[in-house]
Amino acid sequence: MDRYRVKPNGEFRLAEVDPSERLTHEEGKSLGNEYLEELTLRLRELQELLYAQGKHRLLVVLQAMDSGGKDGVIRHVFRSVNPQGVKVTSFKVPSSRERAHDYLWRVHRETPATGEIRIFNRSHYEDVLVVRVHDLVPASVWERRYDHIRDFERMLADEGTTILKFFLHISREEQAERLQSRLDTPHKRWKFSAADLEERKHWDAYQEAFEVALNRTSTERAPWYVIPANSKWYRNLVTARILVETLEGLEMTYPEPEGDLSGIRIE
Ligand code: AMP
Ligand code: MG
Repeated sequence: MDRYRVKPNGEFRLAEVDPSERLTHEEGKSLGNEYLEELTLRLRELQELLYAQGKHRLLVVLQAMDSGGKDGVIRHVFRSVNPQGVKVTSFKVPSSRERAHDYLWRVHRETPATGEIRIFNRSHYEDVLVVRVHDLVPASVWERRYDHIRDFERMLADEGTTILKFFLHISREEQAERLQSRLDTPHKRWKFSAADLEERKHWDAYQEAFEVALNRTSTERAPWYVIPANSKWYRNLVTARILVETLEGLEMTYPEPEGDLSGIRIE
């Protein structure tokens, strides 16, 4: 899974990642989905362990172009996890109350507590993505945010939060198909937004903004992973596997009972 991690050397080029990569042929899909099922069950156990041990916290950041599959990952990869153990926060256009504070204010309070998994559907990265592409603040203001974000995430990591950041990478052609299918499928139409077409016009600017953000904020303890996401099953599989491997790497154990329980018999 290391091949998908953005190394912190500033040399990552988005154009070099094929969004259609599957590393296996289409027949891999049914096998891949069986393996995904195993991984989601393992994720359930690992979340329970995370909660029981009460030592670690996990923050999962999801970013993508519109229709890139953030919702799909949440639905499929976390489908077996106890709903009490995971919380999703979707970051929208900041409200006036949120805008009255610094841009990390609304983010920090949604970070995980001990024993929790928190998923960010969009995140503080919007403040160097949409904000940069649309000049919502002067360049001098967004330019310094990369350093803020690195420092913020380093602080979270120092204090015990494990951080995983996923960029779900789709091609421009794949986005066209997905937006068209939102229009053509009655039960998907609610998802269609005219704003998505407007944003699509800025495709290249977004790709550039992502590439800069990935290079400047992928660190040892808060790494970015670029997931080939044209193929949904492959996207889910790779994401689930990175999550499971990372949680297994924490080498968590169930806490020892307080005192000797062996003599206790419940009448
Ligand atoms: P959706 O995720 O489709 O519900 O759309 C949410 C919208 O909120 C997207 O267009 C984001 O770009 C936008 N958004 C999220 N965070 C920010 C932010 N910090 N500043 C401006 N727009 C944002
Ligand atoms: Mg949308």
